[in-house]
Amino acid sequence: MEPILDEMKVDGYHKVVRVREPKSGLLAIISVHDMTLGPGVGGIRFRKYESFDEALDDVLRLSKGMTQKFAMIPRGTGGAKSVVILDPKTGKTPELLRAFGKAIDKLEGIYIGAEDSGCTPEDLAIINEETRHIIGLQNEKGAGNPAPFTAWGTFRGIEASLLKYFGSSSVKGRTVAIQGVGAVGEALAEHLYWHGASLIVSDINQEPLARLAKRFGATICHPNEILKAHCDVLAPCAFGGIINSETIPDLNCKIIAGCANNQLREATDADQLREKGILYAPDFVINVAGAINCISELSPQGYNPLEVQVDVDYIYDQLLNVYDLAEKNQCSTHQAAILLVEARLKAEAPVIC
Ligand code: NAD
Repeated sequence: MEPILDEMKVDGYHKVVRVREPKSGLLAIISVHDMTLGPGVGGIRFRKYESFDEALDDVLRLSKGMTQKFAMIPRGTGGAKSVVILDPKTGKTPELLRAFGKAIDKLEGIYIGAEDSGCTPEDLAIINEETRHIIGLQNEKGAGNPAPFTAWGTFRGIEASLLKYFGSSSVKGRTVAIQGVGAVGEALAEHLYWHGASLIVSDINQEPLARLAKRFGATICHPNEILKAHCDVLAPCAFGGIINSETIPDLNCKIIAGCANNQLREATDADQLREKGILYAPDFVINVAGAINCISELSPQGYNPLEVQVDVDYIYDQLLNVYDLAEKNQCSTHQAAILLVEARLKAEAPVIC
């Protein structure tokens, strides 16, 4: 059966569609937020949402976040995301994945999907059987695992933040506390170690902790204590929402610079960080390297690692632009980054107050 696509009018969004295919039980939403810079690119998330409205909120927020990310890089594209409402452990069938692939294909390239949480490389390969509008495949033409790129981009973002705060970008002798040493966090720890930083690490999984303590002399910290660690840089690399009015009073870091998405619970949390004198690297600027790597596949010549290298390195300069604008406008770094996004989408210079 062909999937049914119903357009939902959402102010400020290019196109949002509800996707159904009754035979396979597919229920999904595709949100293309903005196409100013090109087709909307964003991951396919499989998650068991409590309700359709919860899934809608998530996909709208995430697709807007992708627009912000891509607007911060030279070869950026449009922002989008999709969510498939099911239990990722039990709800996937090849029929359902193919039906979703057909739905993506019906959008004729305004949405380009990639891996996201709950979506495996195998799922993506099945979806790709029905549509060519997929990137990030783990094959010879694909960009491959984004985590090493995200880790390097985060490392360069930490260097830019150190330059702003201390006047030197060197991590040598600095203490960095990493919350979550998974795919990105562990690779980041390695870069930091080789550049001379002292590490404090925390995870709910014991295995990487023991490895990092042995290989890099990292100090292990309980997950409940990591946000309070005395350090130069706190690098959130686990999950979002951890910077909020409850956690900010207990922070003992000078800089927050990590890869986790949506670190602030509210945009106003960035104002509280500014008042406390903590320099915050906006997540959608510092963690964009994995996305840069993925969209390189869209270039007419195909995936180009040398272009990726240049664009990932640009994170360093772009963060310094954000910090300078925040200083000039006496606003939070989050607000400054949003101003840069808005300016890029209007092809104008950012507003300096
Ligand atoms: P991952 O799942 O490999 O690693 C996350 C780690 O956090 C895991 O080891 C997990 O055990 C740990 N963790 C979970 N709860 C914790 C807690 N309470 N305290 C401490 N550790 C905890 O994920 P990842 O790919 O490394 O991504 C990390 C974050 O960065 C996520 O928020 C992700 O959305 C974001 N991000 C990742 C990429 C990428 O390229 N992988 C790109 C952009 C953003």
